[in-house]
Amino acid sequence: MADFRHLVSLCLELERTPARLEKLRLVAGFLRALPAEDVATAVLFLTGRAFPPADPRALGIRWLPSADEPTAGPPLSFADVAAAFAAIAETQGQGARQSKERLVGQLLARASQAEREILARVVSGEMRTGVSDGLVLEAIAQVAAAPVGAVRRAALRLGDLSTVAGLGVTGGAAALAAATARPGVPLLPMLAEIAADVDEALAAHRGRSALEFKYDGARIQLHRDGDGVAVWTRRLSDVTRSLPDVVAIARRDLGHAPFILDGEVLALDPAGRPLPFQELMRRFRRVHGVDALVREMPLALYFFDCLMVDGRSLIDEPYERRWEALAGVTGGRHLAERVVVADVEAGRAFFARALEAGHEGVMAKDLESPYEPGGRGKRWLKLKAVETLDCVIVAADRGSGRRRGWLSNYHLAVRDGDAFADVGKTFKGLTDAQFAEMTSRLWGLATADDGYTVRVRPEVVVEVAYNEIQKSPTYRSGLALRFARITKIRDDKGPTQTTTLAELSTLYESQFATKGRAV
Ligand code: AMP
Repeated sequence: MADFRHLVSLCLELERTPARLEKLRLVAGFLRALPAEDVATAVLFLTGRAFPPADPRALGIRWLPSADEPTAGPPLSFADVAAAFAAIAETQGQGARQSKERLVGQLLARASQAEREILARVVSGEMRTGVSDGLVLEAIAQVAAAPVGAVRRAALRLGDLSTVAGLGVTGGAAALAAATARPGVPLLPMLAEIAADVDEALAAHRGRSALEFKYDGARIQLHRDGDGVAVWTRRLSDVTRSLPDVVAIARRDLGHAPFILDGEVLALDPAGRPLPFQELMRRFRRVHGVDALVREMPLALYFFDCLMVDGRSLIDEPYERRWEALAGVTGGRHLAERVVVADVEAGRAFFARALEAGHEGVMAKDLESPYEPGGRGKRWLKLKAVETLDCVIVAADRGSGRRRGWLSNYHLAVRDGDAFADVGKTFKGLTDAQFAEMTSRLWGLATADDGYTVRVRPEVVVEVAYNEIQKSPTYRSGLALRFARITKIRDDKGPTQTTTLAELSTLYESQFATKGRAV
């Protein structure tokens, strides 16, 4: 059993060492020198955690008081500190505060001044050593003689660097490669990229996609292992206690062998209509008086993936196999609405049906794709109803190729006080006749020409559809429209009637409020 003071020396040295490579060498050397049994705990503390991310325990204290008394008793080991943290977390109920303070006092009494400082940093979660999880991951790879990619994969599957470190040090590359989903250990959810339309999704998926309703609720991961049922959010917080109704559904309606399901919950009003996301968050946060809120705000549950069935991990299996397993575990209940389509018309019809039913849009999934924990790519695409803004054209680029001779790439701006702020460019949406007409109109408004871009008086207003507002490092406005395309030329509107930058900022913020990112 190693002494806690080794971590203290490491942290102090890391603080003095600015170079990343040197930090990496120090961390790897530290891990190598530790007894295997202490590696997981040491990595936990080194990354500023008292418990692994998915561990529901919390210390229930935010900082440690400063203690001036001299150190007494035997030196602290990693196991001593871990045991003290466990005891502090377990102290709950009446008089918990005093009991926690007493336990903290006992821990501090055995710690040196430097150890107290590092303990305080672990408790506050701010180590100030400049060591990221990524660097620790690389250090583990060095010690386990495994590729960094293999360590990263294991970390995504086990959801916790400290477990991965322990595994790497004892079992090496082979143990890391074998790491796979386990009930009770949440995986980072797979994420989606935006696609403009069904055509794009079908092209990305080689002509065949599974389309599912995209429910506008909050992501959950449901685990069952024997009698144990647990529910995690997208950010891997444990919300089991707040969602007894979901636990009851799992016990009543779903299979008994160990499974892990991925899905979305929606909160419903008494008439059965979906409630706004903020309301749903009240359910997720409630820990006292849960039953009353369960009655007031029932949940609807939709599953769309199965990562484990009968205790067997499915994350490397193709989507289609996982869906079959999901249908088996759920017996067809609580499934997301879905179709498999191979033509654009059928896809658009399903998309329209999703919008009619009041949902955000659809998800398009590659039938052959494995489940990639934490991964975002084209294997899952999200298609949402388009939103539009009114923008003014402030400049246009000369076209090339088929658009030669026209001003065909339009710089779009929104109003910002008396000025206009650029938010995007588009050459999409106009017919050839409209290009020709727009070109002569813009030449009439030209104020400058550098041979490529023609600046124009801001007078022509266009309605612009887009799929997402993004932060932009290039535009002074700080925001940019993704997949902008002109849907109408708004001759009925003047430049003072366009969308404002303030409105755009609000729209940008509201994207987060409705998307479960705050969970
Ligand atoms: P977004 O938050 O806009 O990036 O969209 C992705 C989110 O949509 C996921 O994290 C889920 O919470 C949610 N979602 C709703 N329905 C589905 C579905 N059928 N498949 C995957 N994700 C879904």
